[in-house]
Amino acid sequence: MPKILPITTYGTEILRKVSKPIENIDIDTINLVNDMFYTMNLADGIGLAAPQVNKNLSLAVIDISKLEEYKDYKPFVIINPKITDHHGSSLINEGCLSIPEVRGDVKRPEEIYLEYIDINGKEIKAEFSGLLARVLQHEIDHLNGKLFIDYLSEEDIEKNKTLLKKIKQRKINPPYPIYNPKSKY
Ligand code: ZN
Repeated sequence: MPKILPITTYGTEILRKVSKPIENIDIDTINLVNDMFYTMNLADGIGLAAPQVNKNLSLAVIDISKLEEYKDYKPFVIINPKITDHHGSSLINEGCLSIPEVRGDVKRPEEIYLEYIDINGKEIKAEFSGLLARVLQHEIDHLNGKLFIDYLSEEDIEKNKTLLKKIKQRKINPPYPIYNPKSKY
């Protein structure tokens, strides 16, 4: 049975680390992926990267099928992803399970070329655009220790200052369990 994993929040050290590449996809990787899908769905997210469940691994899960427009789109896993090229740009409002309630407009490329390994160890090269390109870039940033708030204007940061401080102090109560650095799990 998959289990729910507590989500690391802004201020937790692992969110600023570069994730380690995965060399072997073993049963632990598969269990982690299942737990991450389970956790992401309960938290109502559309993407979740391993550092968000306190694992320093280059892996993320994506599921945009909750959105009507993408309901036929199958959930998938990206391992050791690398963006090799990009085009265009768009400004979209983003949020993050690790930074509850904070939202802001982020400018990113509209289209990306991505290389990654799938859950079966197969090397994939693919082009993504629109919302999927957006979610993928957000998750890949997590694997590089980057957060969407790093792109916000000073004005937006100022607006969210109190909230960000509260998140850092873990004085928040999102509708999903959050990781406590003081407990050992
Ligand atoms: Zn995020």
